[in-house]
Amino acid sequence: MNMFLEHFPDDNKQHGWVEVVCGSMFSGKTEELIRRLKRAEFANQKILLVKPAIDDRYHKENVVSHQGTSFTALAVKDSQAVLDIWKKEKVVAIDEAQFFDAGIVDVCNSLAEKGVRVIVAGLDMDFQGVPFGPMPQLLSIAEYVTKVHAICLSCGSLAQFSHRTGDAKEQVMVGAVEEYKPLCRSCFNKIAH
Ligand code: ZN
Repeated sequence: MNMFLEHFPDDNKQHGWVEVVCGSMFSGKTEELIRRLKRAEFANQKILLVKPAIDDRYHKENVVSHQGTSFTALAVKDSQAVLDIWKKEKVVAIDEAQFFDAGIVDVCNSLAEKGVRVIVAGLDMDFQGVPFGPMPQLLSIAEYVTKVHAICLSCGSLAQFSHRTGDAKEQVMVGAVEEYKPLCRSCFNKIAH
């Protein structure tokens, strides 16, 4: 993968865009999101970072990569809340976008049309290899898509599947990182089915 080289929103321009960073568990999505945010910060861009809240309260939370770098995020209850708390920041980043309701697509379009650089990070497939929540639509409307890969723990190839090692069946399992194992297509098909 070539390193994504960004440009920054111009105060005098009314058009923004949408970037999506997607991939499996352990693919480095959050590292890539944080890398882009740090660079936006160096460029003196105001940033709003949001993630979906597990409960209904607004609160601050750190978005922490597996490598330990972090950025402060606001946890919001739904996609509409992203627009409600937006204070004209030129960069809006959305982490864990797969957990948002379908309205997140309109929110991203609407922000981009207001001149915002929207950076979305999320799991593109759930543990069964099914496209996750609003991610397919977000990938479609984005100007720029970066798919990052983990390494298959069975054979060492590039991995795009997040195989769940436990036997829980629900699609949303928050915070249970140790339950997942990145696999390539071939190993996923052998192990998961
Ligand atoms: Zn493999």
